[in-house]
Amino acid sequence: MLLSDSINELKGVGDKVGDKLRKLGIYTLKDMIEHYPREYEDRRQITPLAACELDEPQNVLVTVCSKPQIAKKGNKILVSFRVKDETSSIMVTFFGQAYMRNNFVMGEKYLLYGKIKHKYGQLEMDSPEYQKVADPSKLGTVAKITPIYPTTQKLSQKVIRGLIEHCLNEVLPEVKDHLPERIIKQYHLVSKEEALRGIHFPKDSEHFFEARKRLVFEELFMLQLSLYQLKADFATKLMGIAHDVTSELKAFMASLPFELTGAQKRVMREIVGDMKSPYAMNRLVQGDVGSGKTVIAAISLFLVVKDGFQGALMAPTEVLVVQHYEFIKGIMEPFGIQVGLLTGSTTAKQKRELLAAIKTNEIQIVVGTHALIEDNVEIPNLGLVITDEQHRFGVRQRLKLTEKGHLPDVMVMTATPIPRTLALILYGDMDISIIDELPPGRQPIRTNAVDSAYHPRIYRFIEKQIEAGRQCYIICPMVEESEKTSELKNVIEYTEYLKTQVFPHIPIAYLHGKMKPKEKNEIMAQFARAETKILVSTTVIEVGVNVPNATIILIENAERFGLAQLHQLRGRVGRGKHQSYCVLVSDSKNKVTKKRLKIMEESTDGFVIAETDLKLRGPGEFFGTKQHGLPEMKIANLYTDAKVLGEVQGCVKNLLAIDPNLGETQNNQLLQEIQARLNEQSLHNAL
Ligand code: ADP
Ligand code: MG
Repeated sequence: MLLSDSINELKGVGDKVGDKLRKLGIYTLKDMIEHYPREYEDRRQITPLAACELDEPQNVLVTVCSKPQIAKKGNKILVSFRVKDETSSIMVTFFGQAYMRNNFVMGEKYLLYGKIKHKYGQLEMDSPEYQKVADPSKLGTVAKITPIYPTTQKLSQKVIRGLIEHCLNEVLPEVKDHLPERIIKQYHLVSKEEALRGIHFPKDSEHFFEARKRLVFEELFMLQLSLYQLKADFATKLMGIAHDVTSELKAFMASLPFELTGAQKRVMREIVGDMKSPYAMNRLVQGDVGSGKTVIAAISLFLVVKDGFQGALMAPTEVLVVQHYEFIKGIMEPFGIQVGLLTGSTTAKQKRELLAAIKTNEIQIVVGTHALIEDNVEIPNLGLVITDEQHRFGVRQRLKLTEKGHLPDVMVMTATPIPRTLALILYGDMDISIIDELPPGRQPIRTNAVDSAYHPRIYRFIEKQIEAGRQCYIICPMVEESEKTSELKNVIEYTEYLKTQVFPHIPIAYLHGKMKPKEKNEIMAQFARAETKILVSTTVIEVGVNVPNATIILIENAERFGLAQLHQLRGRVGRGKHQSYCVLVSDSKNKVTKKRLKIMEESTDGFVIAETDLKLRGPGEFFGTKQHGLPEMKIANLYTDAKVLGEVQGCVKNLLAIDPNLGETQNNQLLQEIQARLNEQSLHNAL
């Protein structure tokens, strides 16, 4: 059989099972053997019946000692019978599966895996996994470490396990090893064949770890190598626009309300370099919260417009879009540049006019939410696409906007601090600029983690800040409908409480994700004009919002947020000249939680916070795993496998240094595989 054969070719797979497998994303035999277990159960141990613990899954080796009987209970059919070993006996029952009667034979030996329960005054095992043991001396082939697979309803572990085992036997000889022999030796990896065996049916933990390491290494290796090849492709093929830099730039810079920091200037030089070059810019601008990314976007837009092109800036929330729009419009208009705003709440009539004006170049810059990517938005002279806070956008969305122009320059702004090992993978194709300096005069935010007993003191402190003319954010976690709301501070209820019980004389507003965008904008605008002094909100304000007069942020149930998110939230204050404060409230006694909140007290450096969070919490949580837009990993974990990733990066570099085009015979297999991958859409989408 071939790896590319359909699963329907496999014995035991009919239409029904086939459909279920396809639901799991398994179409071919290759998919099947790459359907890795999600966990393992160690079933090597066999426990005598008398020694079994109740309600714990375990293996027992028993002989059937009563003829299986069918009974009816209500409209349910039961099959039950008694089994014994040398130490004791129990009942076994199956529900709704009359055929089980024929699967167990008096006097024969079976290995059962299940939980023993106390039921109706006797011991019983319900619906165990079972296996007939013809030769008890060969128990080792039955009682073993057992893989548990991701599955859908109604496709039992037993069936899927059996299919995978069968499939492995059929196709393992077909499996080619993509990794060159030299690398396998150098990194002490096991063969691909051995790795596949070991990941599905490990003999012991060492066997598993070796198998996993090999597969993780290969997955990261192929990804990294493909990205490098793509990047090389980009650099040579994607000729873009070579912009001229306007003589008005000086006057424009002088008109800004502040002078750029050294870091902003450096990043601007890097961007200008890209713009002048005939290649398309593809640059990530990374800068901690408050480092001043917006102005970088604005200057870049100014440059392309003055060179006769149009520019688009996309941001993830309407609140943020409106804020950018106002800032950009304010500084562009004196230079005769028209700026348009497109969001979900733009009316049909406004939209018609706006789209017409963009089409005829009367409007040169458009700022919007993902409404920008709709098909009817035509930007004929699109020369620069900027997305803000990119981790909120799918890669596809970004591409769709880019495709409105003819190879426009692309710039992505993010505040997400990316640990070094990851940057190469995540943004392997992009050039990276880092704004590593905050605007002058900023005082570090003072952060305190406290428990809720401190509320009265915090409230008094907030009152004082407001009397001094400042403003305050209060953050409650998002309330999901399914959740018990009692233990959480619901935004609306909490606001009501604050209004009536705590701050009766202070104007308070609230904001949450379920409000209409228009309403949200209005509330943000009022807060920005300081008409309201306290804004109670869910994390909808997390990204980008800029109200420099706000100096205190109180975060309730702080344990519920990731550190990167807390850092983003905290970044809403400390944006002006006044000393700012962040108060994290949590009653959690959990040790890790306490440590995490302590990091927030000790550091205001996004990098330090991100790396510590990674260490403490491990994968996924730090930026939602899906947000980076890479092809989904089958086995590697970009966070916990950072060490292997480091090895892989060194390995790939060495390889390409020796054989940049993978032309050597020993790298033949590798080249073929990489070329196949480069044609896969998923990889392109990752960029
Ligand atoms: P972020 O990088 O978080 O998007 P913003 O672009 O919103 O940051 O800038 C944060 C605040 O700092 C804004 O009020 C902005 O006007 C101000 N700012 C940006 N650059 C400078 C600078 N060079 N000097 C003084 N203030 C600046
Ligand atoms: Mg921003």
